[in-house]
This record gives sequence, C-alpha cells and structure tokens, in this order.
Amino acid sequence: MGASIIDGRGRADRLCAELAMDVAAMIAQDNLRPTLATILVGDDPASEIYVRRKAEQAEQVGIRSLRFRLPAETDTASLLGLVAGLNADPDVHGILVQLPLPDHIDRAAILDAIEPGKDVDGFHTLNAGRLALGVTGLVPCTPAGCMILLADHLSDLQGRHAVVVGCSNIVGRPLAQLLLQARCTVTVAHIHSVNLPGLVGLADILVVAAGSPGLIRGDWLKFGVVILDVGINRITDPVTGTARIVGDVRFNEALDRAAAITPVPGGVGPMTIACLLRNTVIAARQSRKRTMFTNIPGSAEHHRSNMQEEVIS
Ligand code: NAD
Repeated sequence: MGASIIDGRGRADRLCAELAMDVAAMIAQDNLRPTLATILVGDDPASEIYVRRKAEQAEQVGIRSLRFRLPAETDTASLLGLVAGLNADPDVHGILVQLPLPDHIDRAAILDAIEPGKDVDGFHTLNAGRLALGVTGLVPCTPAGCMILLADHLSDLQGRHAVVVGCSNIVGRPLAQLLLQARCTVTVAHIHSVNLPGLVGLADILVVAAGSPGLIRGDWLKFGVVILDVGINRITDPVTGTARIVGDVRFNEALDRAAAITPVPGGVGPMTIACLLRNTVIAARQSRKRTMFTNIPGSAEHHRSNMQEEVIS
C-alpha cells in the first residue's frame, strides 16, 4: 500500500488565501485591520528566521505587522512593560513573544501577562484552561494546524485511537485536548513511557512531536494509520557534511503501512504559521465584538467603561 502524502504547504496556502479575503472584507466593511505585534528578545538566528517569516506572511494576507526587537540583556520588567503597552493599544489584536526567551527572563510571567484575547499563540494559562475544559478560546497554532489536516484526511475522528508522542505545552498536550474534543480515544506517550512501539502500534492516528530524528520505525505502525510528523530536526550527513531537516518518523519505512503521512519539511510546519494568522484574524474580530458589547447601554461593561472614562477625565 502506498501512503498518500499530506500537502501541508498547499493546505496552508489555501488557508492564507481565505484569510486574505477575510482581512480584505474586515478592512472594507468594518474599517478593521488585524494587527499582529511580534517580540523577539536576543539574536538567536533560528528565532530571527521564524519571526521574520511570521511577520512577512502576516503582511502577505493583509495583516499589519509590528515588529519589536529587544537586546538579549532585556529584563523581565522591561518586557512586561512592552506587553502592557501592547495590551492597552486597541489597534493591536495579537501579541506573540517568540520563544525561547533568554534564561534570565521569567517566561511564565511574560506569557501570562499577555491579554488572553490577544494571546495568538494560545499559551496563556486562561486559554490553556479553556482548552482543557472544551470552552472556546485561542488555541495553540501547531495543534490547530494538525486538526485541520486530520479533518481533511479523515471523514470522522470519533472513536479513533489517536496516539500523541510528546506532551509539551506547545504541541502534545493541547493537541491531546483537541483530539479528545473530537471524540478520539487518546493515548499520550512521552520520554518515560514504557513500550513505545506497542503504544504506537495502537494508533489509527499518530502525531509525533518528540524532536527525536527517526524515532518512529515503519514496522511499529498499524496498517492504514494517518501520521502527522511534527518533528523538525536538523541533521548533518556524516559523509557529505550537508545539513537537512528530517522529522521524527522514518518517512520511507512509514510509506508502506500508512494511509497518509505529512512530509518534513512541507507538512505541519506551514500550517503553524497559517494558524497563527488565523488566530490574529479571530482575535481582531473578537476585539470588535468586545467593543460592541461594551457599548451596549446598561451592560456591566458599559458601566465599567463609563466609570473609567469618568475617572480618567
Ligand atoms: P519538547 O522538547 O518541549 O517536548 C518533547 C516531548 O517529546 C516531551 O514530552 C518528551 O517527553 C517527548 N519525547 C522526547 N523524546 C522522546 C522519546 N524518545 N520517546 C517518547 N517521547 C519522547 O519539544 P516541542 O516543543 O513539543 O517540539 C517537539 C518537536 O516538534 C521538535 O522537533 C520541534 O522542533 C517540533 N515543532 C514543530 C513545530 C511545527 O510547526 N512543525 C512546532 C513546534 C515544535
């Protein structure tokens, strides 16, 4: 059996084309231009590339991008100050602090300082809690992209056994929540799991986000499994010395057993940025709804905002 290759790049392009139309309509009809602020602290080359890509792709779909670049020695208090300013700016709808941050910065404090409605990475404690409870909120981008790819390739997720390898707060954990919401039976494996091959062999859906090149072997897989390989690993060919990017799954071995599989690169990666842009558009729309709600005479928000105006004036 030959697996079909899931074209994440093509899917992301389609999503971005839809977003570009949404953004154009928001500008024309509501005079609302979604705006994404990105913050990069330090000069990690990979982070620089990621942030630049995010900002460029945002602009391509019509989202305004504000880029903040701070020196590596920036302290937590200064970064909190920048986040507070962006939280207070009604023309900023999404705030993204590129990770990893330098070790001396209190990462948890920074992520939780972002206004939850502007938290387009979906890492704020409130958004993580909402996701765990199955309540609408901003969802982390890579898991959101995974769910779109799965929905494209499987008519119904209900009752399928999904095995997620990796349980980070960025990928594995939120993805497990989304798969549960989609009524899958979910197994989450991690570095301490016993008998990984046996667990992987249960999967109708296998998502691997371990950061371990070639971890998953072809002969572990159930026939007909749908595989999303989230891993991005840079390896150097010992003979030629050239570097290349590979996933966590042995792609060529998996082709014989899987029904469908994402390549690396060109699979889940492009979906992550597309979903960041989608979150920015959602956040912008929600901001307008909040404003409308605030302006409803008699609402609690209306009173509160009037009180604030009185205090300020
Ligand atoms: P992480 O290091 O925070 O977490 C890795 C997880 O994998 C941990 O839960 C760990 O227990 C588990 N793990 C590691 N080795 C394992 C093993 N041998 N067996 C079983 N479990 C194992 O990493 P992360 O941030 O979640 O990223 C994981 C991978 O996904 C990395 O390669 C990263 O570059 C990639 N990634 C890709 C995208 C994308 O857009 N495609 C986005 C985020 C992360």
